[in-house]
Amino acid sequence: MRSENFSEVNPVKKIVLATRNLGKIEEFERMLQVADLDIQVLGLRDFPDMPDVEETGSTFAENALLKAHQICHYTGLPALADDSGLCVDALDGAPGIFSARWAGAHGDDKANLEKVLREIQAIPNPTYGARFRCAVVLALPENHPSGVHEVVREGEIIGEIVLTPRGTNGFGYDPIFQPAGYSQTTAELPSEVKDKISHRGRALQAILPEITNLL
Ligand code: IMP
Repeated sequence: MRSENFSEVNPVKKIVLATRNLGKIEEFERMLQVADLDIQVLGLRDFPDMPDVEETGSTFAENALLKAHQICHYTGLPALADDSGLCVDALDGAPGIFSARWAGAHGDDKANLEKVLREIQAIPNPTYGARFRCAVVLALPENHPSGVHEVVREGEIIGEIVLTPRGTNGFGYDPIFQPAGYSQTTAELPSEVKDKISHRGRALQAILPEITNLL
């Protein structure tokens, strides 16, 4: 597929969202819909045989690059990947790139969040500063007419950890993260507010012009 002319294999503009995380899918789909791009958004559910990508990078950007390139290579289509996580000051930036599997099992949001709370509470006089960080990568097939292979953009949101989880929106660590200047956690804020101020929202806003120009 990769040796054909790109416009022959992608006559309708398509992009593959390179994640199986339902929380991320919901946010990306919502934000891409608001952006009103003339682009069909596919997900990994459209490629059920796609093997899982091993996240062996040591930064958010490295892991997002791995996911975007492998999924672009497999599908022959432009791919958009994100790697993101919570970085807690008192834990020297942990869980960071290990956010999804901090308590062991991949994607156990409740266990991950409880482990972070336990670790902070084990520190005498802890600080509560934290941030969510996100790297998004657009990977383009080798035969793409632009000659561009990847675009990387990053976003972050600063705030603090609250010791009692609050709210049911969002996913992951949202119930214990309160953005600076807000009295609600990201699990209490309406989704359109989180989308505007979040690490993912900011990274996506930064990459949208590139998606529009390059696809
Ligand atoms: P990844 O799929 O390896 O990028 O892991 C991301 C993990 O970071 C998620 O499973 C969550 O635990 C956490 N995370 C990332 N973004 C958010 C967010 O917007 N809210 C809450 N937790 C998040």
